[in-house]
Amino acid sequence: MPLRPDGIVIAIDGPSGAGKSTIARHLAERLGYIQIDTGAMYRAAALLLAHAGVDLGDPAAVETFCQNIDIRLELDSGRQIVRANGSDVTDQIRSPEMSLLTSQTASLKPVRKALLKAQQQMGSRGGVVLEGRDIGTVVFPDAEIKFYLSASVEERARRRCEEMNSKGEAVSLAETVIDVEKRDLQDSEREIAPLRQAEDALLIDSSRLSIDEVVKSMEAICRQKIDNADPLP
Ligand code: C5P
Repeated sequence: MPLRPDGIVIAIDGPSGAGKSTIARHLAERLGYIQIDTGAMYRAAALLLAHAGVDLGDPAAVETFCQNIDIRLELDSGRQIVRANGSDVTDQIRSPEMSLLTSQTASLKPVRKALLKAQQQMGSRGGVVLEGRDIGTVVFPDAEIKFYLSASVEERARRRCEEMNSKGEAVSLAETVIDVEKRDLQDSEREIAPLRQAEDALLIDSSRLSIDEVVKSMEAICRQKIDNADPLP
C-alpha cells in the first residue's frame, strides 16, 4: 500500500464523550502526527453562524455565509488553537449550549460542504489523526486505519460532566446524560454524513478501559500499519 508523503491517515469516529479528542491527541503525539479535531471545526462554524445571526432555516443565507468562513487549527506551544475568521475561539466553543447548537448546524449541507473540503485538504498529505463522526465514512473513506471509539451513555456523560466541572462549569450528571442522548440522536439520525461505524473500522469500547490502555493498543495497530506501508515511489 503506498504511503502518502507524510504518513498514513488515521480516522477516529464515535459519539460525543467517547474520549476521541484526548485519545487522538496522545496518539498523534506518540506517532509524531498532526491531530485534526473536526468537531472543533464544526463548533467554530456554529459560533460564527450564531454571532452573525444567520437564519438557519434559510439555506441560501447559510450557503452564502459558509462560502466565506475561514476555520483553522493552529498549534501554540503544544496547545491546539481554533481560529474562526481570524479570532481565537478555542474556549468559547466548548459550552454545553455550543455543543447542542453545533449538533444542529452540523446537519446543514453548506456547513458540511465547506468543512469537508477544508478537512480533506488538511489531511491529504497523511501523517494525521482525524477525529469526528464521518471521517472513515465520508472525509477519508480511504483512510489506512479506521477506529470507531465508543462507550456507554452513562460513562460518556460522566466523563463530560467531570471535564466541565473541572473547568469551573457547574453541570449535573442528569443534565449531561440528557444532552449526550440528544446529541447522539441528532448526530446519528441526520440525513448527511450521519454518525455511523464504517464497515472496515475497528470497534473499541472504552467504557472499562483507561485512556492509556486505549492509546497503547491503537498505537500498536498504527505502528504495524506504518511499518508495513510502502513509501511513495
Ligand atoms: O466532537 P465534538 O463533540 O466536539 O463535536 C461537536 C459536534 O460537531 C458533534 O455533536 C457533531 O454534531 C458535529 N460533528 C460532525 N462531524 C464531525 C465532527 C463533529 O457532525 N466530523
